[in-house]
Amino acid sequence: MKQVFTCIICPNSCEIEVSEEGITGALCRRGVQYVQQELTDPRRNIATTVAVQGGAEPLVSVRLTAPIPKARIMEAAEAIHALQPEAPVKAGTVLAHDLLGLGADVIATKSVEKRQRISAGYESGLASVWQRYESTPHTQALKTRKAWTSSAAQTSIVCPSRRP
Ligand code: SF4
Repeated sequence: MKQVFTCIICPNSCEIEVSEEGITGALCRRGVQYVQQELTDPRRNIATTVAVQGGAEPLVSVRLTAPIPKARIMEAAEAIHALQPEAPVKAGTVLAHDLLGLGADVIATKSVEKRQRISAGYESGLASVWQRYESTPHTQALKTRKAWTSSAAQTSIVCPSRRP
């Protein structure tokens, strides 16, 4: 029986045939090793993203340090997505050791800083909006009315329309 594999080791993507005659079509030894691995113990790596708590960005990219058995990929992906590291996260940080006992660690491949409560830009923007609001005629009128109401209350001024 003949089987055909597409080698995923490099961008050449050689079509490698496996038959009674042997393994043919590989341009290098790594392709032969890849096919032998596929026939005996197929493995894959996982590169994905996980949520970061309190991060300046919501997600951080992660990957496994070594390929794991193909049959355990879904289980491993679920375990990785359950990780929710707290910011700050530095690239290269191990987020999980020996994931599911498969001999591979989960590492961050990007850095994510801690989220600031209010960024400096947002704060200065807020101040300028507040300044503009304070200087509008409407706000000035409200202030005058408030001042008048409080002084009227202090001096017990009664509105003429409410006088008996
Ligand atoms: S067989 Fe060698 S050259 Fe061909 S895709 Fe695989 S690694 Fe690349």
